[in-house]
Amino acid sequence: HGETVDWQALIRDVPDFPKPGIVFKDITPMLADGPAFSAAISEMAALVGPDVDAVVGIESRGFIFGAALAQKLGLGLVTVRKPGKLPADIHSVEYELEYGVDRLEIHRDALSHGHRVVIVDDLLATGGTANATVELVQKLGAEVDCCLFAIELAFLNGRASLDGVEVKSLLRCD
Ligand code: 5GP
Repeated sequence: HGETVDWQALIRDVPDFPKPGIVFKDITPMLADGPAFSAAISEMAALVGPDVDAVVGIESRGFIFGAALAQKLGLGLVTVRKPGKLPADIHSVEYELEYGVDRLEIHRDALSHGHRVVIVDDLLATGGTANATVELVQKLGAEVDCCLFAIELAFLNGRASLDGVEVKSLLRCD
């Protein structure tokens, strides 16, 4: 208890992935370290508001943190998925990528009016992915307590693009 984790040692910078000029933050060393992963989930759980009914995890790495967090909080997990993965009736939202567009989907019956959720992903970059997820949650009439990330790339200012939504993160990278 109270031991501090050297997060920087557990997040590996991988240059030129997935393409030249991008330095990818690789979280797999953190996930592979039992005490560190556990501490990450505990610290993220402490950032969640008291009146949250569900955790919304964003495919794919958001499922890892989202599932662990849901278990920790005793809540259910709602999955926001890439196109064509969810089998029942869906809502779909398109969002801009650097080149082109992508889509995220949610089951229409996953949440309803008055539900309050925390949206979880591994990392906040420009905020496009999280913004699309906020839109999906709001389409179902649910409210967002906060968007919660293990890592926030502060220099990309995704926080500013998530206007009117509380943004929380475990680690900020400059
Ligand atoms: P955004 O939509 O905020 O620009 O990008 C965030 C999404 O892309 C998240 O779903 C995240 O998993 C992924 N992502 C973008 N850059 C990185 C990175 O450097 N490391 C990791 N682990 N994920 C990234």
